[in-house]
Amino acid sequence: MSSALMATYKRLPVSFERGEGVWLWDTEGKRYLDALSGIAVCGLGHAHPAIQKAICDQAGKLLHTSNLYEIPLQEKLGEKLVALAGMQKIFFSNSGAEANEAAIKIARMHGHQKGITNPAIVVMEKSFHGRTLATLSATGNRKVQAGFEPLVQGFVRIPFGDIDSLKNVAENSPNVVAVLVEPIQGEGGINIPANDYLKQIRKICDERKWLMMLDEIQTGIGRSGKFFSHQHQEIVPDVMTLAKALGNGMPIGACLTNGKAADVFGPGNHGTTFGGNPLACRVGLTVLDTVEKLDLCARAEMLGAKLLADFADALADVIGVEEIRGQGLLIGIELNRPCGELVTLALEKGLLINVTADNVIRLLPPLVMKNEQADQLVATLSELIKAFLSEDSD
Ligand SMILES: *Cc1c(COP(=O)(O)O)cnc(C)c1O
Repeated sequence: MSSALMATYKRLPVSFERGEGVWLWDTEGKRYLDALSGIAVCGLGHAHPAIQKAICDQAGKLLHTSNLYEIPLQEKLGEKLVALAGMQKIFFSNSGAEANEAAIKIARMHGHQKGITNPAIVVMEKSFHGRTLATLSATGNRKVQAGFEPLVQGFVRIPFGDIDSLKNVAENSPNVVAVLVEPIQGEGGINIPANDYLKQIRKICDERKWLMMLDEIQTGIGRSGKFFSHQHQEIVPDVMTLAKALGNGMPIGACLTNGKAADVFGPGNHGTTFGGNPLACRVGLTVLDTVEKLDLCARAEMLGAKLLADFADALADVIGVEEIRGQGLLIGIELNRPCGELVTLALEKGLLINVTADNVIRLLPPLVMKNEQADQLVATLSELIKAFLSEDSD
């Protein structure tokens, strides 16, 4: 690999030349089954014809004007997303971290508008919200923060999934203005809270007049089996952030607001040069259309259930497999020991997976994966896990 690149990633020694659906081919012509989708980005798979057409067509018309002007494609995508979410307003960014930056700024400004001059946001242990200074400060992972102190102030951290801790904060921290939480923690290890967790948070936020802010950057756009993961719990957040799958590979993020969060920002409070440009929004619209046309929310739900059941079968009674969990196509297989080397072993077998939180195999396959491809995923990965666990204990 070129030494010109900063060493921010420990990269696997493979590079891909082209893709089609769930498949990728490397520069040697070897084929891989992609069960990661570029970390929940390529929900429609690779080289989807509708995306290709949207990009080519739009590139021949207009890539960028400026947010100094009206952008009809941005308005159209914005209207579509707020309608899907049952929310009111939207700001487009270029990434997840930037979407969360907007959310954090909205929470703070909302606090100041209420006369709270040192507003704080409740965040969770094991959370991940991005790599900018504010979002790494919100992130619940010391590895992400170390070396970048002083961190941004104004975050109160509690354990994920723990409503009593949140109630305790409500009793004791009068300067709290918002809660920022992932419906399912992705980087943190596919951590799935109790069924009524978001409802409970909603209730406390309503009582305290806090903003409920959901980071759906990894869980959104159909992956969980609903368009947005919180829709499993019949609540509407005040703020929701999106990115990853919204562009299927075209960089785009969004921060949606509702109710008291909707009119916090006025002219001059926030901005971006690239955010919401015609090309990104054209692709975003095509992604949403395709998810709807192909009924990919239902597909994610069905395929996710099948994968969970099949892995449970294939790995039944395998000592060292602690838990197999998931919602839709966010799937975690937790082992009783660190298992990062499984990524390389899988790569050799032509399978792309991820390991996060040291010992959780994370699967985020494209929503368009077919049953026989899912069968291949289960067969290949289960064999690898069994071999890994038996070798390791010898
Ligand atoms: C990926 C991710 C982010 C950061 O998004 P970037 O586009 O990398 O800035 C934030 N929150 C969650 C939950 C994510 O999965």
